[in-house]
Amino acid sequence: MKKISIIIILLIGLLFIDSNIEDSIYNYVEPVIPVEEIIPEVIERLTVCLDPGHQAEGDYSLEPISPNSEEMKARVSSGTVGVESGVYEYELVLDISMKLKKKLEENNYNVVMTRETHDVNISNSERAQIANNNQADLFIRVHADQRDNSRVRGISILCPEEDDDTVNIYANSKIASEIILASLIEETNANNMGISYRDDISGFNWSEVPVLLVELGFMSNSEEDLLLNESNYQEKLVDGLYKGIENYFRMME
Ligand SMILES: [Zn+2]
Repeated sequence: MKKISIIIILLIGLLFIDSNIEDSIYNYVEPVIPVEEIIPEVIERLTVCLDPGHQAEGDYSLEPISPNSEEMKARVSSGTVGVESGVYEYELVLDISMKLKKKLEENNYNVVMTRETHDVNISNSERAQIANNNQADLFIRVHADQRDNSRVRGISILCPEEDDDTVNIYANSKIASEIILASLIEETNANNMGISYRDDISGFNWSEVPVLLVELGFMSNSEEDLLLNESNYQEKLVDGLYKGIENYFRMME
């Protein structure tokens, strides 16, 4: 008897659930934003991979300079340090990269970071593979520069040279380098140190997506070192990078 009453209760329950489903069908309300307007935005979301240069400790063990070469190069160096500020390059470029990440995300970009802390060990080829694995639409490596001549200052961009390793990414990397450098100079009024085309950068040779490396200024120049650490100037750098990225993708449409 007990079993039968349990079954009856369950059946009655099912009837109620069924009628509730029907109610909810009849009570269906159009969503406020039509579905067609949501979907394209999701599909067109662009991915930018940001690579804040270096890390707390360099790793000078070797890795191949490109997938097609037996030539070896240090996995990742420790970078430079501000002559006046005493701030390390790996600290400065992470700060600025995190500000750029925030700005890009506020504007609906998908951002992938190669690192968000200093205590990592990620080689330059591994950083490129993070961009590759995330199918980044653009891979931007953020660095600051140094020279023995302390008077040298300004912004430059390193771009892959056209060769066997970069045949698929050279053209777009070049366009992105030109557009982003112009935008950075416009925002900051920094000295324009131009674009260098390089075949000796592991993080370029391993990249399967358009890539460039921006040198935001010289930490070996006292004035520029201090400027690079000012929040107002960092904002100009972030705006310059952001507008350059926007202009590049607009051109690629
Ligand atoms: Zn560097």
